[in-house]
Amino acid sequence: MQNDQEHSHAKARQAVIDILDYLGEDTSRQGLQETPERFLKSMVAQTVGYSQDPYRVLEKFFEEVAGYKNLIMLQNIHFESMCEHHLAPIVGNATVGYIPNGRVVGLSKLARVVDIFAKRLQIQERLTSQIGLALDEVLLPKGVGVIIRAKHNCLCTRGAYKPNANMTTTYFSGVLDTDSVKRGEFYTAAALPWGNGVHHSQ
Ligand SMILES: [Zn+2]
Repeated sequence: MQNDQEHSHAKARQAVIDILDYLGEDTSRQGLQETPERFLKSMVAQTVGYSQDPYRVLEKFFEEVAGYKNLIMLQNIHFESMCEHHLAPIVGNATVGYIPNGRVVGLSKLARVVDIFAKRLQIQERLTSQIGLALDEVLLPKGVGVIIRAKHNCLCTRGAYKPNANMTTTYFSGVLDTDSVKRGEFYTAAALPWGNGVHHSQ
């Protein structure tokens, strides 16, 4: 097993060297000596979500909610992901909310779930659905809403070169899908200022 891992690591390292060589680099120059190792380490960090289970994170829910039955929302959850088509960064914010049906989770769990799915090779559409489905399947709530807005480096810094373009994707289920009033409440709450509540007048 150890040998397999070492062999696979050596192959991956060589692959990075081959790509640098393909790009016309002198792979023996000093500045590139540590680059293959750094690149592999960085890729492992960007995909660490494959070894983490978002369902286990959500399974620690509370049932004593004192009858609370309205929207619970965490706004502006920063995340960094990587597009599976170009291996380019996707950087954005997620707003995640649900209307509970007796089960609630700690707020940090919502942020963790976003991170676990983000730290995989992704497309934004799938990232959005995976977060929503995980909440639906574990919390069995009355409805789930997810809004993600992100910048894709593969669009901003190459290809179509649209540096200011943001992509928005949504997931709605249950009453947030079927009841347009409830969905409107979700959008209104999602659009509320999310800072520390202190307004600085000019
Ligand atoms: Zn891409």
